[in-house]
Amino acid sequence: MNRPLALWWIKKDFRLADNPALTAALAAHERVLAVFFFEPDLLAAPETSAFHVAAWCEALTELRRRLEAHGGEVLVLHRGAVAGAGYIHEQQRIGTIYSHQEIGSELTYRRDRAMANWVAANGVDWHELPQTGVFRGGLDRDRRAKRWKDFMRAENILPTPAPEALNKLRIPPGRLTGENLPTEALRPDTFGHALTPDQRRYRQAISEAAAENTLRGFLYERGECYSGGISSPNLAFTCGSRLSVHLAWGTLTGRQVYAATEARQEELKDREDGEAKVWRKSLRSFKSRLHWRDHFIQRLESESGMEFTPLNPAYEDLPTPGDGYLDTWLAGRTGWPLVDACMRCAATTGFLNFRMRAFITSVAVHSLRIDWRKILYPTARLWADYEPGIHISQTQMQAGVVGINQLRIYSPDKQLADHDKEAVFIKQWIPELRDTEPQAILRHHLSPVPGYPTPPVDWRENSRAMKADYYAIKTLPETRQLAEEVYARHGSRKGPRRPPRKKTKPA
Ligand SMILES: Cc1cc2nc3c(=O)[nH]c(=O)nc-3n(C[C@H](O)[C@H](O)[C@H](O)COP(=O)(O)OP(=O)(O)OC[C@H]3O[C@@H](n4cnc5c(N)ncnc54)[C@H](O)[C@@H]3O)c2cc1C
Repeated sequence: MNRPLALWWIKKDFRLADNPALTAALAAHERVLAVFFFEPDLLAAPETSAFHVAAWCEALTELRRRLEAHGGEVLVLHRGAVAGAGYIHEQQRIGTIYSHQEIGSELTYRRDRAMANWVAANGVDWHELPQTGVFRGGLDRDRRAKRWKDFMRAENILPTPAPEALNKLRIPPGRLTGENLPTEALRPDTFGHALTPDQRRYRQAISEAAAENTLRGFLYERGECYSGGISSPNLAFTCGSRLSVHLAWGTLTGRQVYAATEARQEELKDREDGEAKVWRKSLRSFKSRLHWRDHFIQRLESESGMEFTPLNPAYEDLPTPGDGYLDTWLAGRTGWPLVDACMRCAATTGFLNFRMRAFITSVAVHSLRIDWRKILYPTARLWADYEPGIHISQTQMQAGVVGINQLRIYSPDKQLADHDKEAVFIKQWIPELRDTEPQAILRHHLSPVPGYPTPPVDWRENSRAMKADYYAIKTLPETRQLAEEVYARHGSRKGPRRPPRKKTKPA
């Protein structure tokens, strides 16, 4: 009689190194079936785009190549995960499933709950193993910083399994092999998501090998200009680590990045030259972002409803008269050159730096007065590095509906003058303005460039009206009370609780 199957259910962990689910499965079983599901519900979801499907296809392709070198295989099915597990179970009984603990949007959360019901009903064990410093179940926020540091220790990093262990990853002969999608079929268009030629040209490669190169290139070549460079829409493409796609799809872990950064800091620590000082400053600033990453994902883990409801529910009453501007904003045709360039850049490259993501969110919610929920999935589709916990938390935070941070309203004209006064970014992404002098572009709000649209609203007037509505809610005693509660649940702190500060970055 066949032994029950052990499954490594690949989700957002397309890598061999530092992979707790893979390592545990191989340690406990003689044969393991590695499986990935292209799930129809996820493919059709309003948050999913060709950038994401391309990430799955590419990362899987490389994973297969790496495994094939050791005789290992990955089964790829075009089925929902629960239906797919049921189908495999019909061919050969599943005994145990290993996967990483996913902190996703409502859709994958619901899918995981359905899977939990399915395993319970079928007597299957499911081990969900954490791969980030985000903690499930009854987290004490005051102790989180210590738990996070413990999790991130370099000695916890799991090595790539040995070739003879990877050789255990086999597909049982029979019907499953017949349904296995071949590597040639792993293209976004197979799943109804085609990339445009420009998207293909500009998107980042996503695989374990690309992640290793990106990390090394950042720590040894590009990262010196990180501090300062990441605020610029032009420079962030090279000065930023560009690791977000790898962290999001799990071709690399935060723990690996943290350890490699500490090792690089160690190398630089005794050098007195100016270059080393600049590097050290940049790497300190970079490391703090790795903390923020898990801090924000933790919010979603602790409060899954935040995809639909403001963390401070008092802001539910904020008027949103500008929902009709959504398409104009998304298409990059607002008449604010920097907003338009950002929207078109994101649609083509799948990337914008943090400052510009915050800026376009502020313009949508504060200046055009679109409901933050209306922009949530359209922007998720723009980011090749879509990470629900960060994306939802940041969208709420920039919209001001978390209510424990200073409200930041960005002026499109000031941001343009501060970050692109030579109009390099504008000219790259707005062909209609390529022949216009930078000064004329910067003065478009005072003296419109012929043929280029003018903004649909008066920025100053709309922002003033929004602020009046916002502070009318913020100053209510019940809003303040709710803000205290939000801070207690989600505010960042290194140790036991302090009262909320006026300006916190990030909260
Ligand atoms: C509205 C909005 C939505 C966002 N959505 C996402 C998203 O879906 N996925 C995503 O990875 N980042 C998101 N960010 C955060 C940030 O913009 C990106 O992480 C960053 O631009 C990626 O570039 P990088 O890898 O070069 O980052 P670096 O600056 O090099 O940072 C290193 C890593 O730290 C993390 N990080 C950086 N900034 C933040 C931050 N403010 N909060 C939490 N983690 C951070 C990311 O994992 C990033 O890769 C969002 C920001 C805003 C304002």
